[in-house]
Amino acid sequence: MFCDEAKITVIGGKGGDGHVSFHREKFIAKGGPDGGDGGHGGNIIFLAVENVNTLSDFRTRKKFKAQDGENGGKCDMTGAHAEDLILKVPVGTIILQALNNEVLADLCEINQMVVMAKGGIGGHGNANFASSIRQAPNFAELGEPGEEKELILDLKLVADVGIIGIPSAGKSTLISRISNSRPKIADYPFTTLVPNLGVVDLKVFGAKESESFVVVDVPGLIEGANEGKGLGHKFLRHVSRAVFLVHLLDIASNDVLENYAVINEELKKYSKILAKKQQIVVLNKIDLVDKDFVDFISKELEKMNPKLKGKVKAVSAVTGEGLRDLVFTLWGKINELKIKNEKGKMKENKLKMENGKWEMGKEKTKKLKNNLEFKLYQPHLDHERDMLEIKMIGKKKVLIENRDVKDEVKERLTKKQRMARQQERAELRLKKRGLSDEEFFVGEDKKSQKTVIQIFEVRHKRLEQLVKMTNFANEEGVARIYDILKKMRIDKALHKNGAKAGDKIIIAGKELKVK
Ligand code: GDP
Ligand code: MG
Repeated sequence: MFCDEAKITVIGGKGGDGHVSFHREKFIAKGGPDGGDGGHGGNIIFLAVENVNTLSDFRTRKKFKAQDGENGGKCDMTGAHAEDLILKVPVGTIILQALNNEVLADLCEINQMVVMAKGGIGGHGNANFASSIRQAPNFAELGEPGEEKELILDLKLVADVGIIGIPSAGKSTLISRISNSRPKIADYPFTTLVPNLGVVDLKVFGAKESESFVVVDVPGLIEGANEGKGLGHKFLRHVSRAVFLVHLLDIASNDVLENYAVINEELKKYSKILAKKQQIVVLNKIDLVDKDFVDFISKELEKMNPKLKGKVKAVSAVTGEGLRDLVFTLWGKINELKIKNEKGKMKENKLKMENGKWEMGKEKTKKLKNNLEFKLYQPHLDHERDMLEIKMIGKKKVLIENRDVKDEVKERLTKKQRMARQQERAELRLKKRGLSDEEFFVGEDKKSQKTVIQIFEVRHKRLEQLVKMTNFANEEGVARIYDILKKMRIDKALHKNGAKAGDKIIIAGKELKVK
């Protein structure tokens, strides 16, 4: 089924977690840390391809997630990187951010690619954190979560076959007979001459595979000339991708042969691009004439142009005679010519690669079948990676409740258990008083005190990435983040912004405290 718009969610693969382990061998008491790194998660890549003319694949499936990277292992085993997930879309697909309709990519060329959701990087294993002061790090990084985006795919079709012919040859009728859909088309400057596009679904004509191609009526060749308009620039761009033309002739007209010549002359005048394209000549309206006449006209055309020998088609767009044969002939021709073009392009691409113009990792190129080189666009390059932004986003009343700790000491509870019990009680009291929006901290001295803490949001690409990769259940891992805050002088920057010890910091949705 034809479909020219879809809303989907894409999620890059999560990076594999780093591993925590220590070297074990007989007679070696304390082996060093040897937990390996996790592999990178797969990217979600969109690839514009030929032979796909609909977004219907995205109608049934709405969520696409690339594979996660493999976790690291013992003995410095690095987890494998995940494969990228390549989503094929028709040429002419525009990708928008669903949130604000911002255009993220316009895939208007064959084999154009764009990374739409990056996979997360793999977490470092504990072997990575060994140093002279920290000889037995008992923590590892988690894999970074992949990027997630909600997208709108919007298809503006470009045609595979252009249909030319004098007015009333039957172009519109033919398109309406062989195609069953009316896709959206771009706005054209000349309102009277709107190209008529149609998607031909081969399944309708008995093919097993659901393959399709796009035909367009090329108006304006004669019509436009009358109005002094000619073919608009935008329109030309639209048909310039057409691999060949169908030259439609009205066999019931008095001067078929003359029309054929006239149209070809016009073609040369109006568009060199179109004039160079190959043509399939089709006689239309055969329901109105005898078969002998069809044969006669075919022979006459062959005399005019020997290349047409045995290749003139005859149909009736009204009765449907000959249409099935025509559709498969067009399909065969499209494939034959596209393969030729592809070969030409491969040469061209190789040249460009050698000039170093394209940024595409060898690894990824290898992954793609038939070894074509592709253009890779990365709209979210990391140029903002090092920008630090600190913002006070709110204040919160906090009650620091201090309790006599003698009872708990008598019970021989550990300090941790004691604090937990006090916190529990404090929360109970808080509930009773209906003060649910306040926070409790249990202090060590005897006086309770009310205070206000500030909440700061810290944004910094690399830091956010590190926080996302921190296992907050592991004290050493959390301690490392505080170390990093110090090393990156984010502590200082916070204090400069008016933060005091005890204030809250939010980084990538996680809570930390100003020290
Ligand atoms: P266009 O100007 O080339 O787009 O031509 P149209 O598709 O508008 O057709 C012009 C006229 O020819 C219409 O009245 C059609 O009904 C008629 N027509 C088109 N194809 C056939 C056909 O195969 N047989 C007959 N008898 N009439 C046809
Ligand atoms: Mg028409």
